Amino acid sequence: MPDAAVAASSSQATGGSTTQQVDVAVVGAGFAGLYLLHRLRKAGFTAIVLDEAGDVGGTWYWNRYPGARCDIQTIDYSYTFDPELETAWKWSEKYATQPEILRYLGFVTERYDLRRDIRFRTKVTAANWDQATERWQLATYDGATISCRYYIMATGCLSAPKPPEIDGVKDFKGEVYFTGRWPHEEVKLAGKRVAVIGTGSSGIQAIPLLADQAAQLTVFQRTPNFALPAHNGPAPADRAALLESDRATYREQARWSLAGVPWPQQTVVSWQLSDAERRERFEQAWAAGDLVYILTQLWADQAVDVDGNALICELIREKIHGIVKDPETAAALSPFDHPFGAKRPCLDTNYYATYNRPNVTLVNLRQEPIRQITASGIATDKRTFDIDVIVFATGFDAMTGAIMAVHPITGRGGKSLSDAWANGPQTYLGLTVADFPNLFMITGPGSPSVLSNMAVSIEQHADWVVDRLVAMKEAGFTTLEATQTAQAGWAQHMADCAALTLHRLANTWYTGANVPGKAWGVMPYTGGVGPYRSICNDVAGRGMLGFRLTGPNVAEQCNDGEIVRLQPDVRLVLGMLAEMNLPPIESLGAQGARDFLTEFNKGRPAGRPVGEVGDGMLQGAAGPLPYRLYRPATPGPHPIVVYFHGGGWVLGDEQSDDPFCRDMCRRTGMIFVSVGYRHAPEHRFPAAAEDGYAATRWIAEHAADLGGKPGPVTVAGWSAGGNIAAVTCQLARDRGGPQIAGQLLICPVTDCTFDRPSYTENATGYFVTRSLMYWFWDIYCSPADRTDPRVSPLRGKLDNLPQAFVATCEFDPLRDEGIAYAEALAAAGVPVEQLKGRGHFHSSLMMVDVVITGVGARAQMANALRRFAGLPESKHEGVGPGVAAPPHQIDAAAG
Ligand code: NAP
Repeated sequence: MPDAAVAASSSQATGGSTTQQVDVAVVGAGFAGLYLLHRLRKAGFTAIVLDEAGDVGGTWYWNRYPGARCDIQTIDYSYTFDPELETAWKWSEKYATQPEILRYLGFVTERYDLRRDIRFRTKVTAANWDQATERWQLATYDGATISCRYYIMATGCLSAPKPPEIDGVKDFKGEVYFTGRWPHEEVKLAGKRVAVIGTGSSGIQAIPLLADQAAQLTVFQRTPNFALPAHNGPAPADRAALLESDRATYREQARWSLAGVPWPQQTVVSWQLSDAERRERFEQAWAAGDLVYILTQLWADQAVDVDGNALICELIREKIHGIVKDPETAAALSPFDHPFGAKRPCLDTNYYATYNRPNVTLVNLRQEPIRQITASGIATDKRTFDIDVIVFATGFDAMTGAIMAVHPITGRGGKSLSDAWANGPQTYLGLTVADFPNLFMITGPGSPSVLSNMAVSIEQHADWVVDRLVAMKEAGFTTLEATQTAQAGWAQHMADCAALTLHRLANTWYTGANVPGKAWGVMPYTGGVGPYRSICNDVAGRGMLGFRLTGPNVAEQCNDGEIVRLQPDVRLVLGMLAEMNLPPIESLGAQGARDFLTEFNKGRPAGRPVGEVGDGMLQGAAGPLPYRLYRPATPGPHPIVVYFHGGGWVLGDEQSDDPFCRDMCRRTGMIFVSVGYRHAPEHRFPAAAEDGYAATRWIAEHAADLGGKPGPVTVAGWSAGGNIAAVTCQLARDRGGPQIAGQLLICPVTDCTFDRPSYTENATGYFVTRSLMYWFWDIYCSPADRTDPRVSPLRGKLDNLPQAFVATCEFDPLRDEGIAYAEALAAAGVPVEQLKGRGHFHSSLMMVDVVITGVGARAQMANALRRFAGLPESKHEGVGPGVAAPPHQIDAAAG
């Protein structure tokens, strides 16, 4: 039915009951639903909000337990869409209590006259997409039905409490309360024996206040959680002043930040700080009483590196032991099984100190699990506890529970959402689902949601959705639906992001692990609020990429594709490079390009310490050449890797790949000797190739003098250095040595033709461009020489070469010639392993401590080098983030 006809009749009778007709139906009258209603109305849509609760508030309507507060600072946990609203409301505390937040939402409701379009005590029980009318039909608990063009779930991420999953709850004769469904009337606990089950945010907030009232409080803890003092009080003066000084900038920075609160990105990594410096940072964070601060501001690797994270865990455990007097209780309260931040940490007020009270007992369920709840109390494997009141703080069926509570939600072709999500939620952007046209979720699974300041993420989602609806209306479209390609691409990007952070290492509600039988997967988007916002904007900017749009009088539009194919950190790095607006390197001239590289390299992380770094001179093809040697900290002698840096035979030197050489020296436990071979235009072909060979020969002959293990050496190189390494292997075979045990070729130049697809697909936009490669070739090698195997090793004889490991990157002009070389080696009978870096660009694998998703690839390269040298593979180095699959052996048939 056309919208005009629908709008003409705001309601109509169907089968005896009334069906209300609106453009948009929103489920949920919390932060998201209220703002949506306001925006939808302003955009000219008819809209209704439906909520099971008796009033506005969403999660804050239900969570009335003692101690309930927000734990993002309230100045950040507020609407920002209207500057006048911001000044009209003043929060009284740093972290507002639940009643104050509810008052705020009531204030907003009245201010924008929202109540008249909200139906309370209206539980939506089913939603069905009617293909004929292209509308959603919603059924409600009281029999009323709603017909809408667009159906928006603003149901919250933590609003469906999960059942306690403990035998005997029904037998208990005392009082039972759930923190997530706390009664409106006062709960009297004085003189009673109270049990709390659960020590997540809700339990940790409630326990100190319950202990104040109860005669005896027994806390049943399954998993200890990290909790930090909130230091509640007035909003901190420095943050308030920052906001007041320039509200618009503050809010804008929040929108583009990682977590939705304006804090800078840390650049210093843990191992660059001394123990004292780390402790000082930690004490500052502990004193700040701010979750976002302590989760993001200690050091750059705290959320992505297990070692960097473990330092924080230890400092917090130390604090717990400092507060809790009984050492056994302190030990039981100390988290042991997850990285800090991988499970949602809590903010507390006197939580740990509460265990020093005589009326409080901690029961460690890891040592004595609950057997059952009885009529009079709780029985564990070891004891029974007589209890008058049980408080379940056992959490929620998070992210998907409230969406699936409307059941069934039936989309195109009768497909139900519970079937579509049987193996975990599948979404595009966390906003939409393929096969469910015109259905939107606000802060759904697949969006930053619970890993962000919800207020910021809610506004971003609501704005994006309403802006799209307006644009569709203007263009004559009436349906919008994500494509399967876009959705699958988003799942891949989600997985890539999740591989970067440590959330995957904990069993939490983020992953569905808290609900028995729920599919496992990191449900929130871990790539950050700012990057996510830019992706959503990009989708719209690229003609609604990944969406199919239809309308009665317009041609269907489907701009299909995946919005992000780069690894998440590669995307950020390339974005930063693009913002720098650098001149093309080839426009700088050789010396200018060298100066540029020197300056550019000054900005990168310095690389980690190794046993020793020393400089020396070796004998090249036409005279002495500098080298830099990296020695492991372990006792020698170590096998030697001869390394050739990248730079198109024109740029770089023996120091220019310093962080990479350090990293590989640490990973392999082998000596790296980086060779300063001669460069063009001063020394053109075959100077670099001949130097590579001569240097390898010299290093092999002087292995013992260098502190290395005599015998075969291994060669390695990146880019043009990979070219030199490959050529060196061919020359060593043909010229009677030295013996080479293996070759590691990273994004190597192997051939002089530029017509392979990767040269076209990745001609621009990925730092190393096609025109830069033309320039390098022109400077180094005249056209007549280019088919010489000393510069195009792919054209050489390939049998009897050392075993090889060839790494290539998807978004690299050199990708296909690297793959071609690996396949040609295999065809010639050389054992080859090939690693294809999905989502990476030419420099990805070299950007140590910048492109974290390159770590897995380097771990695999290191293992290959160790294998070449006859060393056992390192146990710690498995497939890391960012590589689709482990390297694979290619057999001769592949050629
Ligand atoms: P939660 O973090 O999931 O914690 C539930 C607790 O109950 C956990 O300690 C869990 O142990 C335990 N538990 C669950 N089932 C159990 C069983 N059968 N037997 C024994 N113990 C069991 O839930 P929550 O505390 O309600 O918090 C959920 C989220 O809501 C928070 O992480 C936060 O994002 C949000 N929240 C925010 C605020 C705020 O803003 N101030 C306040 C409250 C909640 P395991 O860890 O072993 O599973």
